[in-house]
Amino acid sequence: MTVTEEIKSRLDIVDIVSESVSLRRSGRNYAGFCPFHQNTRTPAFFVFPETQTWRCFGACAEGGDLFSYVMKKEGWEFKEALKNMAQRAGVTLEEEKPVNKEVQKAQNKQAGLLQAASDYFNQLFLYAPQAEEARQYVARRSLNEDTIAHFAIGFALDSWDACRSHFNMQGYSDQELLAAGLLTENPDKGTKYDRFRNRLMIPIRDVDGRIVGFGARTLEKDGIPKYLNSPQTDLFDKSHLLYGLDSAKRAIREARQAVIVEGYMDVMQAWQAGFQNVVAQMGTALTEHQLRMLKRYTKQFILALDADAAGAKATLRSLQVARETLDRDVEVKFDAHGLVHHEGRLQADIRVITMPEGKDPDNIIQENPEDWPKLVAQAKPVVAYVISVATADLDMNDAKAKTAVAQQVLPLIKDIQDPIERDHYWQLLARTLRIDERALRQIRLPQPPQRTVRREETAVPTKKPGGQPAKTSWAAVPKKGVSSGSPIASDMRQADFLQHAIRSPQIIVRVNQKLQECGQGQVVDGDFLMAEDRAIMRQMYQLIADSPVVTIDELWDSLEQTLQNRLKFLLTLPQSPETELERISDTLVLSVLDWRLAKVRLLLSEVKHLLREAQTEGDVEALAIYTQQLKELPLAVLQLNKARDSMSATSRRRAEDAMNGRY
Ligand SMILES: [Zn+2]
Repeated sequence: MTVTEEIKSRLDIVDIVSESVSLRRSGRNYAGFCPFHQNTRTPAFFVFPETQTWRCFGACAEGGDLFSYVMKKEGWEFKEALKNMAQRAGVTLEEEKPVNKEVQKAQNKQAGLLQAASDYFNQLFLYAPQAEEARQYVARRSLNEDTIAHFAIGFALDSWDACRSHFNMQGYSDQELLAAGLLTENPDKGTKYDRFRNRLMIPIRDVDGRIVGFGARTLEKDGIPKYLNSPQTDLFDKSHLLYGLDSAKRAIREARQAVIVEGYMDVMQAWQAGFQNVVAQMGTALTEHQLRMLKRYTKQFILALDADAAGAKATLRSLQVARETLDRDVEVKFDAHGLVHHEGRLQADIRVITMPEGKDPDNIIQENPEDWPKLVAQAKPVVAYVISVATADLDMNDAKAKTAVAQQVLPLIKDIQDPIERDHYWQLLARTLRIDERALRQIRLPQPPQRTVRREETAVPTKKPGGQPAKTSWAAVPKKGVSSGSPIASDMRQADFLQHAIRSPQIIVRVNQKLQECGQGQVVDGDFLMAEDRAIMRQMYQLIADSPVVTIDELWDSLEQTLQNRLKFLLTLPQSPETELERISDTLVLSVLDWRLAKVRLLLSEVKHLLREAQTEGDVEALAIYTQQLKELPLAVLQLNKARDSMSATSRRRAEDAMNGRY
């Protein structure tokens, strides 16, 4: 049971509404004057105890559950409603539990320790006689005082317990030093010792500038490993960090471009030369999370890769891995195909710089800083890059090899949304392979892996994560007289809509345009059944109003915990196999029309049932309202069906056009 369900199960909506509306019994239900619109003649406002819902059959034509009622009545945000109702129901909200405060306290202490450690290492670097070699190393890289200070470069003594005793004396326990990654424990002997010994220390900060760990370079010739990082801790998660982002974010926003390099030294060198929009991946695969984090500042990413083919392939693989971790339901083989999918989903422009043979940004900038902006300007779009990598060693007389390259690159080209750009790459590939474009268009692609489930089926899992049987929270579904549409299917369609809206907010705009074209109102929070979904949808509109680019992180940060849990669930849903915005939005428009239709039909059957009840009870006022509804609701069904028909035709036509354009 979710928190909201728990709260609803403990409270009675009749009690809550009675506090502000004078209700009288009407059959099995309660009627009163609607608190949301001016009315004194006919009580058009009903509360249904069986389903714990309310509905105004008058001017508002609105309804919902306990949460939507108190939110509307009190003008509360979801968070406030949740807090108030939880208190009333005696339900403890997770974030109020003291354990989280303890965790928070421990994390703050750890952050303090890491900052102190950074100062300690930095002082040693600047003044300790033992740090002479470290200072010479930095001097050889031509890093100046400003750069050393800005990045707080440090030095760890060649000792097993110097750091440990220093911080023990300051009152930190071994346990705290272990948790912060400054100590290492030998699992067999149980002995503890300094993790970083005789190394150049590079503090790593999170996006807010807080030190969360260290990268430590060996100062010994052939020392292994060359870089030793902090272990994964509560604060240090390599997949969530980009080195230098805290100081680069402003420059990235100004340059509207982020350059991603491989090493810490590359970032420092670039910063010193005045190129401050540069960040480094953390020696691991570039993750979706990192790209999303960058997307808060820009939509153009430039990857500066090593010149060798292995390096290039490794980076392509990085992006592929990131994609696979998010698209668990889609099986993809390594063929760089993932890149453009990635690009499409992130709505980002990813470009690639190939470094001259044997060079990295560090030594290019050191030798000829003026070459750097030129290289950046020459960055190739991903597709062009893949074409150049794939055809680099190609034997132009080997027809089979050419087909293989075409099969590798064509899926990328077919995924490009812009038709002119798409055509451009058809031509480029034909030219590069020295074959006729018509011949190229006849090459058959290996069949993509078959999706074993149809969309409609994937949208209705029988179990929610955690093993709880799927249960709709749409309490407005009457317990009897359900004649059409499965509430669970409807619930999942809405979840599916939301997950797409969250991943690509521009879909909301497109869907609303399309709804308007077929005479329907735009998607509103009231379209959703669950209080959580309504709140998330409302928040999306809020964020879109502030900025057209909304990332999942921004949304996440703006939500309270119950909504974050719902968001987490939404993001586990299978994504559309479609990659084109137009196709996805067509599908979603149909989905919206379908669930509105299901809702009106349910309401209709509910009203029929209520009408019979009112007849038996001889409730004249209710009878009048329900009779009126029986006239109006079928009209709504008619309009929705009309919209649905026109919509299907449009999307069919669009699908056909798209096919003709591509093949
Ligand atoms: Zn009303």
